[in-house]
Amino acid sequence: MTSRKGTLFLVLGPSGSGKGVVMQYLKRTFPDAVFPVSCTTRSPRPGERDGEVYYFVSREEFKKKIHNGEFLEYAVVHHDNYYGTLKKQIVDALEDGKMVIREVDMQGVASIREKLGRENTCAVFLTVPSWDVLKERITRRHPENNEEMAKREESFKKEMEFAKTCDYVIASREGEQDRMCQKVAEIIRRRS
Ligand code: 5GP
Repeated sequence: MTSRKGTLFLVLGPSGSGKGVVMQYLKRTFPDAVFPVSCTTRSPRPGERDGEVYYFVSREEFKKKIHNGEFLEYAVVHHDNYYGTLKKQIVDALEDGKMVIREVDMQGVASIREKLGRENTCAVFLTVPSWDVLKERITRRHPENNEEMAKREESFKKEMEFAKTCDYVIASREGEQDRMCQKVAEIIRRRS
């Protein structure tokens, strides 16, 4: 694919690493950036509104979109739900020279790099010191059953390996969320 004017910033990291907080900070800091809305088959959590971060769709609707070629990439995350970035929204914004920022999982990063070219993307990985630290954070925020925790641990191990391929790795330390947000914003400013 030819070189584009805008850059697609991809924020990733294990659940519990603070991606949500970082994304909210980036939305406030870069009001002119595009924050594309992805589709997911998971149910909305309390407080989540359709069309903000996700369009909540049925499996049938999701499959129809796959069939129609609407996704830039899509993946099954944590073994159950589908998540996908919508191609038109992202490609149009990049061609307009806009800064585009989206949270995706590592499968999403790999597919997007392949489709858009690595030079048009910048992957920022939010890391946590260990599985024990992450487990404690997840449990404090929203306790999950053993089966769910086992899935999270498996994903965590794979994600830590994948971090080595990312453009930037930022540590997510307890009580230092502001610093982490500022660091990600600095990277985006520098690279856009
Ligand atoms: P959550 O359900 O907690 O919002 O997100 C679960 C995982 O799906 C997170 O790792 C998140 O980054 C990832 N995710 C969110 N949107 C997309 C997307 O459009 N594509 C892919 N591949 N992953 C996504």
